[in-house]
Amino acid sequence: MSTNNEEMKKCECGHDRTHYMVTPDGKYSGMKWFLMLAGISVTPERITYTCRRCNVTFDSTTDPAILRRRM
Ligand SMILES: [Zn+2]
Repeated sequence: MSTNNEEMKKCECGHDRTHYMVTPDGKYSGMKWFLMLAGISVTPERITYTCRRCNVTFDSTTDPAILRRRM
């Protein structure tokens, strides 16, 4: 049923982006950093997913629906 064909990537340990050992990290452009410092909430440019066990950034997304959830 899913129309999202972005496949679920995994790190070497087999953790995907929903795993509790995986940290989503928002990446912001310079301008957005400035807005955040001013106390304005902004959506990140992209989110990267890093496994805290193997310390590998194995996935990232620019999906607006996911980015908005990170606000
Ligand atoms: Zn890992």
